[in-house]
Amino acid sequence: MIDAIVIGSGPNGLAAAITLAQSGRSVRVYEAQSQPGGGLRSAELTEPGYVHDVCATVVAMALASPFLKTLPLAAHGLELVHPDAPFAHPLDDGSAVIVERSVDATADALGGDDGRAYRRVMTPLVRDAAPLMEALLAPIGLRQPRLMASFGLKAIRSADGFARALFQSERARAMFAGAAAHSLVPLEFYATAGYGLGLVIAAHAVGWPVVRGGSQRMADAMTSYLTSLGGEVVTGERIESFAQLPKTRAILCDLAPRQFLRIAGDRVPSSYRKQLEKFRHGPGVFKMDWALSAPVPWRDVHCHRAGTLHVGGTLAEIADGERASWNGRISEKPYVLVVQPSIFDASRAPAGCHTLWAYCHVPNGSTRDMTDVIEAQIERFAPGFRDTIVARHAMGPAAMEARNANLIGGDIAGGAADLAQIFTRPASAFRPYSTPIDGVYLCSSSTPPGVGVHGMCGYHAAQAVLKSHKPFQHGGP
Ligand SMILES: Cc1cc2nc3c(=O)[nH]c(=O)nc-3n(C[C@H](O)[C@H](O)[C@H](O)COP(=O)(O)OP(=O)(O)OC[C@H]3O[C@@H](n4cnc5c(N)ncnc54)[C@H](O)[C@@H]3O)c2cc1C
Repeated sequence: MIDAIVIGSGPNGLAAAITLAQSGRSVRVYEAQSQPGGGLRSAELTEPGYVHDVCATVVAMALASPFLKTLPLAAHGLELVHPDAPFAHPLDDGSAVIVERSVDATADALGGDDGRAYRRVMTPLVRDAAPLMEALLAPIGLRQPRLMASFGLKAIRSADGFARALFQSERARAMFAGAAAHSLVPLEFYATAGYGLGLVIAAHAVGWPVVRGGSQRMADAMTSYLTSLGGEVVTGERIESFAQLPKTRAILCDLAPRQFLRIAGDRVPSSYRKQLEKFRHGPGVFKMDWALSAPVPWRDVHCHRAGTLHVGGTLAEIADGERASWNGRISEKPYVLVVQPSIFDASRAPAGCHTLWAYCHVPNGSTRDMTDVIEAQIERFAPGFRDTIVARHAMGPAAMEARNANLIGGDIAGGAADLAQIFTRPASAFRPYSTPIDGVYLCSSSTPPGVGVHGMCGYHAAQAVLKSHKPFQHGGP
């Protein structure tokens, strides 16, 4: 009898397994793919010698995570690499806004009233970053009520309204839009300011690092630590039904609700099934990776100091693009998230050469090839970019879902993260990790606090298992 089984080895599945193993429980993880990691995978997608992150690449949320930051992952081979500046936002006039690790340096570069406004808003939030992140990465509750109230007053606003009210220049507004657009939610929707603020706070408080050698190394370090605690990871085993599993007291599903319904079958009571069937998925992404013969020739050379670049121009342009993908339309000038890891981590490419990672948002399930559109957007701010391309690899929503069944229609956020669904993931706000099936839990990013490599969905789900002594006392499913 194994105490607990986890289906899926994404960061949340591994975090859940580690939490249980740390409490002395026997745990086995089943992973459909040949390597553990889910969103934390790396592969030579283009040419031998070029290591690309298939999904997540910037692991800021891992550093902000109250759980992951406590794990001895460095002792298991994890090394993070910090770019000089967390992110940059290139503009059509050839300049770029650079967000530095320091609030003051960023405010000084913005200058004038915008610099003062930035310093006024960000300084107290960054000072309280650790307790704030702990509260933000917890299920709905009243943790840190004073901090959450002061953050919430700003965060509840739309990113569009917040940026227009706080900043006078298009430069500063564009910079904030670029951070908020990570949410995959239209920037005029309530609470999108919260995404932008959260990511900017993280940029200053913990940085936006990448993993030396590729994100897979983080999954490998988590797996190695889990194994050292006595846990097991079985790869290459897709679970189609609970009947496939050995006897256990608890099952934790690192799965999207739709997948969970398929695997749990008729054991799911119809009222809960109906709730999960209503769970909405947001836009998909079209992902690209390149092998390059040289660094991207950004017009503003300061962009080479940044790990991440938000490519898409002004606030209005980014808002248009995000609205389009949400409403099922393709933007011909989309917001493109670009990461250039090899500038800071030479192990990712042959000497003198580079890798580049990018995606844009597209309608869920879109079949349109966005290669030309994405490359044109980068070329707009880096003329000559196409001349540096040695090889490219593109993945639309269907290809992404084939690599990881949780990425439904290319949705990388585990479900639309608008205000209506962020607190009610996947159904009940009060017991989000439990299901009506005795001893069966959900622990993926479709539960709070949602998308990102922070492992907190898995950690909280495992805590729910540990608190509910029932499955451990009476035998589970
Ligand atoms: C292209 C892309 C870019 C991203 N960039 C970033 C980023 O830079 N920073 C960041 O913080 N986040 C990023 N994310 C989001 C991040 O990867 C996810 O939020 C995170 O991985 C979710 O973790 P998870 O454990 O919930 O699920 P996943 O990581 O999706 O893992 C689920 C695992 O379950 C396995 N599985 C599914 N079905 C079965 C089954 N039936 N049987 C067995 N195994 C199964 C899958 O193969 C997978 O390994 C990105 C995601 C994508 C796709």
